[in-house]
Amino acid sequence: MLSLCLSILLLITGSDITSKNENVMKFELIELPYDSGALAPVISKQTIELHHGKHLQAYVNKLNELIPGTRFENADLETIVKESDGAIFNNAGQILNHNLYFTQFSPNGGGDPTGPLAEAINATWGSFEAFKKEFVDSGVALFGSGWVWLAKDDKGSLSITKEANGSNPVVKGLTPLLGFDVWEHAYYLDYQNRRVDHLNELWKIIDWDAVNKRY
Ligand code: MN
Repeated sequence: MLSLCLSILLLITGSDITSKNENVMKFELIELPYDSGALAPVISKQTIELHHGKHLQAYVNKLNELIPGTRFENADLETIVKESDGAIFNNAGQILNHNLYFTQFSPNGGGDPTGPLAEAINATWGSFEAFKKEFVDSGVALFGSGWVWLAKDDKGSLSITKEANGSNPVVKGLTPLLGFDVWEHAYYLDYQNRRVDHLNELWKIIDWDAVNKRY
């Protein structure tokens, strides 16, 4: 069916499809694994639609504008984040951040982590409760816009890292596991200035199966 459509398109336009591929957008907006209203009231439908459909879409559009003609034309997102700077770094970082962010939630999420990740959290912080407190405190303490992450190093050791603006733990050689977005666009419509309330509510929708797969 696809090839039939392409053939028809080719006949209609009279152009060479392969030459057009060079202009095809390289990065695409990820699809949400849930309905936009499914995470309410922790995150409202309006916030999800603006955050995913407008903010993340804008980062995707901007990166696709910026990379043609640079050495990042054929690079994957993580490589771009590790090796770029300036506007390319900012937009690529925000795409990587949000792709991880939106896919770590579920309307059936919440509860405690399980398996090896739960054991590592307990070994590092003493308890899940103690980990959550330090994680939220870190997010509250982050001045301005940025992210707080649970990350692991190449030996599997866990740490909480704060990243300013569009940065991501990969720039420190770490693997991001769980990230809370503390940019105001992530919570202002629902929580106004109460960042701490927003961060405390997010635990109710964490999809620990998705986070476990990153560990
Ligand atoms: Mn955001």
